[in-house]
Amino acid sequence: MIKALLAHSVALLVVMPTSIVAFAQNQKPNPAPPPFAAVPQVSAAQQKQFPAELLHELAQVRDAALADDYAYRQVAHLSENIGPRPSGSAGAKAAVDYVADELRKLGLDVHLEEVKVPHWVRGAESAQLVEYPGQAPDTTQKIVLCALGGSTATPAEGVVADVVAVNNFEELKALGKEKVAGKIVFYNEIFDKQKSAGGMAFIAYGEAVRYRAAGAKVAADLGAIAALVRSVGDADFRLPHTGFSVPAGIPTGAVTAEDADLIAHLAAQGKVRMHLTLTPQKLPDATSYNVIGDLKGSEHPEQVVVVSGHLDSWDLGTGAIDDAAGVAVAMEAAEVAQKLHLHPKRTLRVIAWMDEESGGAGSQTYSKDYANDFPHYAAAIESDAGAAHPLGFDTKMSKDAVELLRPVVGVLQSFGASALQPSEYPPGADISAMSVAGVPALGILQDGRTYFHYHHTAADTLDKVIPSELRENGAAMAVMGYALASMKDPLPR
Ligand SMILES: [Zn+2]
Repeated sequence: MIKALLAHSVALLVVMPTSIVAFAQNQKPNPAPPPFAAVPQVSAAQQKQFPAELLHELAQVRDAALADDYAYRQVAHLSENIGPRPSGSAGAKAAVDYVADELRKLGLDVHLEEVKVPHWVRGAESAQLVEYPGQAPDTTQKIVLCALGGSTATPAEGVVADVVAVNNFEELKALGKEKVAGKIVFYNEIFDKQKSAGGMAFIAYGEAVRYRAAGAKVAADLGAIAALVRSVGDADFRLPHTGFSVPAGIPTGAVTAEDADLIAHLAAQGKVRMHLTLTPQKLPDATSYNVIGDLKGSEHPEQVVVVSGHLDSWDLGTGAIDDAAGVAVAMEAAEVAQKLHLHPKRTLRVIAWMDEESGGAGSQTYSKDYANDFPHYAAAIESDAGAAHPLGFDTKMSKDAVELLRPVVGVLQSFGASALQPSEYPPGADISAMSVAGVPALGILQDGRTYFHYHHTAADTLDKVIPSELRENGAAMAVMGYALASMKDPLPR
C-alpha cells in the first residue's frame, strides 16, 4: 500500500509544475494563505485607505462582475441591434436613447449633455490602377480602399491622376510642389507588426497614424488632388482601416496593406496612374449627446469618479470592440454596485462619450461645462482599447497615488489585471482634459495583440468580443471604480 502510494506520488511529481513540486517536497503543516496574498506588503498608508471591510467589498464586486453577463448583453445590443454609430447618425441617436434608458433602469440619476457633432457620411469608394509598368492589355488593377473621415468628394465619375508614392513626409517635401501638384499622393508608412505582436501595439499605432491624421493636409499644401495612406493596422486580410483625418479639402482614403505593397512595387518600376472615386458627404453639424448617469456618493457627492467609454463608432463595422465594450464595462461598474447594494462614498459617474472618433466634441463640451468642478474630481477611468483580456491599468497620476492603488490591483490579480503602468500621456482621449487638469486618470490596459487587426474595419463585430475576457474587463472597471469612490481619502494629486 505504501509502495503503491509512493509510486503514485512519484508519477504525480513528474507531471506537476515545478512550483507544486517544490511545495510537495517541502511538506509542512499548511498554514491558511493570508487574505489578499497577492499584495506583498501592505503599507500603513495603503491599509488606512483600504481597510479590510473595503477590500472584502472589492472582492465581492470582482466576483459578481466575473459571473455577470450584463456587459456582454450591452455590447450585443449596441453592436447588433443598433449597429454602427458614427457621429450624427441614426445609430448614434438610438444608442444615446438606449444607454440612457438602461442607466435609468439601474436607478442612476441620468442626464443627456447636448453636443454639436460633425456629420460625415460615406459614399461610393473605388479605385483602379489604369496605367503601370508591364500592364497587360485590356486590364486594370483593382485597389481596395475606404475613405477616411473628413474626406471631401471626387466628382461622381472620379479623378484620374499620376500617383506619387512616398515612404514619409520628408520624401514628399523633398519632391516639392512641382512634382506633387495635380497628383495623388500615396504614403506607404508600414505599421510595425513586431511591435504590435510584442505587446507594443499602441506605440506601433502612434507611429503610423500620423500619416492618416495629417497626410492629406501636408499633401494638399503641396497641391496634391488626393491623398491615400496605407491602412493603419496589422492584419493581412485585405481590409481597409478608416479613421479620422484632419480636414484638408481634398479626398483622402486608406488602401489595404496588400494594395499598398502593390502600388509601391509598381511605382518603383515606373509611372502609375490611378482612377479614384470617393463620394462622401459632409452634412450640417448635428445635435447629439453625452450620456451621463450618476450613482450619487453617500458622503462626498461632489467628488466624482468617472467610469467611461465612447458610444460613437466608425461606420464600416458595428463598433463592438471600439468602443461598445468600453461603454458596456462602465455601465457594468454601476450595475454591480447596485446589485450588491453598495453605497460608494463618492459619486460613481458613468459617461458614454459622443464623438470620440471624429473630433472629440463630446469630451470637449464636457470639459467646458464641468471644468470648474475638476478640482474636486477624485479620478477618471476610460476603456477604449478593446475588449481583450485586461492586464491592469495605464495610469497618469503621481507616484504616491499609484502606490496607494496596489491593494486594489491585488484584488484583480486572480485573473492577471494587476499591472499599474505609468503613462506619459492621458490614458484615454475622452478623459484627457480632466487628466491635464490634474485629475488622476486611468485607462484599462488590454492585451492589444489583436486589436489592430479589426480596429476601424468592417471586422469590428461582436464575435471579436470573448465573453470571459469582457467579464474580466467589467471586473477591472467595477473594482477600480468602486475602490476610487470608496477609499478613505481621494488619491493625492
Ligand atoms: Zn475608440
